[in-house]
Formats: sequence, structure tokens, C-alpha cells
Amino acid sequence: MSENTDRCSVFWSTDFDRYASGELRVERVRCALCQHAPCDCPPFGTDEYYALIDARHGQGRGGRS
Ligand SMILES: [Zn+2]
Repeated sequence: MSENTDRCSVFWSTDFDRYASGELRVERVRCALCQHAPCDCPPFGTDEYYALIDARHGQGRGGRS
């Protein structure tokens, strides 16, 4: 049943707390990586996937001095 969500399990947002407490259904938990609910990340290991991670980590990266 959890095949669709495994690939994003590391990236759950704080919505996961609500899911864990039964407030949210898993389909309603917004992925911290793609920001979609349910998760809409590209397949793990693809260029698109890493680009997404890079974009997430790159937020606030205002150029090192
Ligand atoms: Zn996702």
C-alpha cells in the first residue's frame, strides 16, 4: 500500500505530524520536496528528481561571498 509514498518518506513536511496523529489522510500530506499532495515527485534517481532536490536545497542560496 505504501509503494507510492516510500520514495518521498524522507521529505515529509510537518503535515506528516498531522497524518501521524490521524488528522490527515496520507493523500493529503504535502510532500516537502515537490510541495504536492499527494506527492508528485519524479522517480527516484532521475535527473528530474535530483534537480528538484537541488532546487529545494538551493532556496535561500543567495550567492556565497
Ligand atoms: Zn514529492
